[in-house]
Amino acid sequence: MSELSSIRIVLVETSHPGNIGAAARAMKTMGLSELVLVRPKDYPCVEATARAAGADDVLAAARVVDDLPAALDDCQLVFGATARLRSLRWPVVTAREAAAMAIGELDRSKIAIVFGRERTGLSNDELALCQQLLNIPVNPDFSSLNLSAAVQVVCYELRLAALGDQPRQTTQPEEEYAPAGMIDSFHAQLEKELVEIGFLDPDNPRQLPLKLRRLFIKARPTINEIKILRGILKGLSRRRNDSEAGAK
Ligand code: SAH
Repeated sequence: MSELSSIRIVLVETSHPGNIGAAARAMKTMGLSELVLVRPKDYPCVEATARAAGADDVLAAARVVDDLPAALDDCQLVFGATARLRSLRWPVVTAREAAAMAIGELDRSKIAIVFGRERTGLSNDELALCQQLLNIPVNPDFSSLNLSAAVQVVCYELRLAALGDQPRQTTQPEEEYAPAGMIDSFHAQLEKELVEIGFLDPDNPRQLPLKLRRLFIKARPTINEIKILRGILKGLSRRRNDSEAGAK
């Protein structure tokens, strides 16, 4: 997961220092740490540190630069996060798609994600420095997403995508799964018993045997569980035979 720390978050002309602190906090919770600030309005500032709430190391390491090209100088893949989609001719991807692209290229490209000003976002000239535009799909009737909340969503998607790339931790059952042959003979026994009690008509089974098979295939029973089920069937069958013998 350490590779996430090589993804750069760039904030352009942020007005409120609190948003810078909150963005640093959002980054750190997701394992990102490289922050570049383009002409922040009011920084350094106690409010930024307060809102960073423990992510002050991210703030302390943040680089302040004069313009966006300086922030992107060494970057090979740049996403511009934008709230507005109207009148844009650039390719736009969702935050999730962008994260998948970024993680897929992480080992060979320096990646940056650029966030705009609170009031006006990113200019067209700034967007022109981005290979891809990134949009978080929001409620069209209330699309106002705070800058640091947008940073949080994007960093979360990056983390999820990075986690998805790791070999999945399989939850090993403590016991072995029943092999197909064992499940098969259990079904034979079950069907025989269902015929005996008149629940299954062998001349007109409809889809019952298939449905039962599907039920057990989905459950992935263990050897022990099949043994329990077989034991129950055997017990029921014995009871039935005994009562039938008693009735005679
Ligand atoms: N009123 C501005 C919104 C700026 S919000 C505008 O119309 O552009 C500040 C920054 O947060 C944006 O520049 C963008 O980088 C990010 N942001 C906010 N909402 C977003 C969304 N739905 N998708 C992607 N980024 C978003």
